[in-house]
Amino acid sequence: MESNHLPVAVIGAGPVGLAAAAHLLARGITPLILEAGSKAGSSIEEWAHVRMFSPWQFNVDKEAAQLLLADGWIPPPENEYPTGRELLDRFVRPLADLEQIKRHLQLNTRVLAVTRVGQDAMKTQGRSASPFLLRVIGPSGERDVLASAVIEASGTYLTPNWMGAHGIPALGEIEHAANIAYGIPEVLGRARSRYANKRVLVVGGGHSAFNALQDLVRLIQEAPQTTVLWAIRGNSLDRILGGGANDQLEERGKLGLKIRQLLNDGVIELFKNVAIDQVTSSGQGLVVKAGEKLLPPVDELIVATGFRPDLSLLAELRIALDPATQSAVLLAPMIDPNEHSCGTVRPHGAVELAHPEEGLFIVGMKSYGRAPTFLLMTGYEQVRSVVAALAGDWNAAKRVELVLPETGICNSDFDEVDDRLKASASQTSCCGTRETTPEVAPRTSPGCCKA
Ligand SMILES: Cc1cc2nc3c(=O)[nH]c(=O)nc-3n(C[C@H](O)[C@H](O)[C@H](O)COP(=O)(O)OP(=O)(O)OC[C@H]3O[C@@H](n4cnc5c(N)ncnc54)[C@H](O)[C@@H]3O)c2cc1C
Repeated sequence: MESNHLPVAVIGAGPVGLAAAAHLLARGITPLILEAGSKAGSSIEEWAHVRMFSPWQFNVDKEAAQLLLADGWIPPPENEYPTGRELLDRFVRPLADLEQIKRHLQLNTRVLAVTRVGQDAMKTQGRSASPFLLRVIGPSGERDVLASAVIEASGTYLTPNWMGAHGIPALGEIEHAANIAYGIPEVLGRARSRYANKRVLVVGGGHSAFNALQDLVRLIQEAPQTTVLWAIRGNSLDRILGGGANDQLEERGKLGLKIRQLLNDGVIELFKNVAIDQVTSSGQGLVVKAGEKLLPPVDELIVATGFRPDLSLLAELRIALDPATQSAVLLAPMIDPNEHSCGTVRPHGAVELAHPEEGLFIVGMKSYGRAPTFLLMTGYEQVRSVVAALAGDWNAAKRVELVLPETGICNSDFDEVDDRLKASASQTSCCGTRETTPEVAPRTSPGCCKA
């Protein structure tokens, strides 16, 4: 079946999916944007109250800005830090509302599965010539749509990690779900009564945990009986709290410094080396158990232990994922926190994001799999490169057009990883096929050599 006339499906109308659509339009390719929520950016709605740590200049895709400017959009001040709500109101929603985008956007449309017409994951013959088939569920029930390529930008916000240290729910975690929130609840807004004057344990060592801790400490001013406990898995606060004043994203650095100050002031009680096995309820509240250690009883738990990708919808496709990070194999060494303590990730694009399934690219937050530190500007560079590759413009796909801010906590391991990547990139052929690095190489070329 001929697929050239078909649109490129974009899964998810978050900022990266919409940016992909803008790049596709700029290259004369028709997008079909499928969004599960009733509005664009519906995952950001969940953290709309959180202030971002990157300023506007890093949060807006250039191609999308061109489309918006032509429509009379006034760009937000480059150096101001938006909340999630402001990101929605001043960028994501205006972009989704543009006539050029809106006519290709299907809201309330969840992608259930992606495959290829007449092919399951096993079948090879004729595979790359078969169009993609996406099973979706929308207001009028289930249906199938066809696409020439798929840009998967569905994010990971809807699939948070468990509190349990073993990757699966801690014993009792599901049973006590009513008192466990994942992510960053709106402690100073919608969820105020849930946390005011309560004993709250925050679990996790990333920026989401910092935000939750900071809000809970603010709540103490109005609700002085509120008690804030914090459990982290590791032993090193330095690594967790980041580069501070050395972080080139100033607000990200400041957040770490603020938490350090609150710890010094004794407003937050910290528990280190907590690998949680179980949560039980005692007469005094919920008790978290980590090995032999029992934490003081609390009323509520906030779990901010990161996110993981929902890979179920891609089960019939041939994707090559790093077994640890669940990101594309070539991207993994750049983002794997086991390999380096640096939050800085070198810009990357279609080569690093390719899978054995030609024409499929996982981009945005989901491209990082389970790894942290994804930045929007990285996602915008990804889709610029991926769309160039889909258009057959391999020179543009390989070009790097982004300089990323440093976190200030890089160590030398990162440089080694970077050198390895540079060496492997030098072995890249015109199609992006890695020729001599089997340990990281996709099994086939990404199939973007249409030119
Ligand atoms: C609290 C928080 C603060 C952050 N702060 C920053 C920051 O300061 N700077 C920065 O650069 N980055 C930040 N990030 C990271 C990242 O940039 C954001 O998460 C960003 O929203 C990711 O964009 P995305 O388009 O990849 O995914 P998302 O914004 O998650 O969008 C994915 C979209 O896909 C839809 N979807 C999901 N499943 C399906 C499906 N099966 N079918 C159809 N649609 C589907 C969702 O409804 C959603 O609209 C932050 C993240 C969080 C959680």
